[in-house]
Amino acid sequence: MHHMTLAEIARGLADKKFSSVELTQTLLARIAQLDPQINSFISLTQDLALSQAKAADERRANGESGALLGAPIAHKDLFCTQGIRTSCGSKMLDNFKAPYDATVVAKLAAAGAVTLGKTNMDEFAMGSANESSWYGAVKNPWNLEHVPGGSSGGSAAAVAARLLPAATATDTGGSIRQPAAFTNLTGLKPTYGRVSRWGMIAYASSLDQGGPLARTAEDCAILLQGMAGFDPNDSTSIDEPVPDYSAGLTGSLQGLRIGVPKEYFSAGLDPRIAELIHNSIKELEKLGAVIKEISLPNMQHAIPAYYVIAPAEASSNLSRFDGVRFGYRCENPENLEDLYKRSRGEGFGSEVQRRIMVGAYALSAGYYDAYYLKAQKIRRLVKNDFMSAFNEVDIILGPTTPNPAWKLGAKSSDPVAAYLEDVYTITANLAGLPGLSMPAGFVDGLPVGVQLLAPYFQEGRLLNVAHQYQLNTDWHTRTPTGF
Ligand code: GLN
Repeated sequence: MHHMTLAEIARGLADKKFSSVELTQTLLARIAQLDPQINSFISLTQDLALSQAKAADERRANGESGALLGAPIAHKDLFCTQGIRTSCGSKMLDNFKAPYDATVVAKLAAAGAVTLGKTNMDEFAMGSANESSWYGAVKNPWNLEHVPGGSSGGSAAAVAARLLPAATATDTGGSIRQPAAFTNLTGLKPTYGRVSRWGMIAYASSLDQGGPLARTAEDCAILLQGMAGFDPNDSTSIDEPVPDYSAGLTGSLQGLRIGVPKEYFSAGLDPRIAELIHNSIKELEKLGAVIKEISLPNMQHAIPAYYVIAPAEASSNLSRFDGVRFGYRCENPENLEDLYKRSRGEGFGSEVQRRIMVGAYALSAGYYDAYYLKAQKIRRLVKNDFMSAFNEVDIILGPTTPNPAWKLGAKSSDPVAAYLEDVYTITANLAGLPGLSMPAGFVDGLPVGVQLLAPYFQEGRLLNVAHQYQLNTDWHTRTPTGF
């Protein structure tokens, strides 16, 4: 049962082959048995799951249908869930029970999805390895000595280990696409504004975007359908009609213009990954796509710009965690200043503290123009590069990451080494564009992802290209040994 995709589950439930309660019980038992190996969950919500599953079975018995009705999922632990701990992977919020549901959580619950639990993540979504979680590192089911990627490493590891078919995640600089690449999944970061950020604990508000992590493009289409749409509670949510993503998975790739940026194949890319990316290009050519070399000249400036903008926004967003209003409070403070200092010093981990310091510095008087303003100008140049490229091509293709998943601990003492691994993903966040990562092969037994980027609101195009590719390849069907 645990090998089924969301699409297969929907058919099985519709054909009454099993009930949502049976499926939920099977998966909860599997999580109890296998999750200790990978640490992908922070909280399990068994009672909620069983009551939602029972309600979904009743709705089906009363004639309702829907691809998510009775489908088991989990939420990254930064989506607020009413009455349930929402920790953001931090000691700061270990005792925080959200007073309301995030829009994404409420929408998926209304569609009948069953929440099995809240998944592990890098603290406040800062990281690319899922090692900065206060609840411990997550391990990659493909090799337990390697990281699963981050910050949505818990969602990725859980889906890769077949503990559940799909999960929600968020992507500020690659946190959906990079863990998808590291664990052989398909993950989609939608256009900024496509999915509501209301109730999604903020890291860098102008970059954060929620999206689906699943094994196939077909399943990402189903989950995105339940997440996307205008939300008056989020002032950056965009009022654009949401297409039927599943119905859109039928387009031919004949004549599709794929741009391959020459900057992507520089010295930093593992040549074995480059070869797999070239193989995926050949596969898409066989399906009728036309390849064109393009250039994204400002790509080299994207990492420094991102690592100014994201920490700057984080330093502002995280000022609310002061030991008074939310979460952790230190013991026996001597005075107000001591309360602030020790609550934040004890509640936040070292990566979060580093980002707050970098961000506060970049925003401070005298440095604002030199760092923050400069970074915003680079952001515009990065966006302009994409706008010119999309005049010539329909999608842009390249590697999701320069290297496969590294060993646990390998980059923990060198944050800049980890930041450099984000080189292919962060540009989409700076520009607000949609991006998808899908399985493209293996290097030393570790999965490799190919990334597709599209113009604003063309999530459907990305999903269709990935689906056609997956109908003709079988990388996405490979299962990690032991799971
Ligand atoms: N690795 C990037 C960072 O640490 C991206 C994280 C994310 O997308 N949430 O900021």
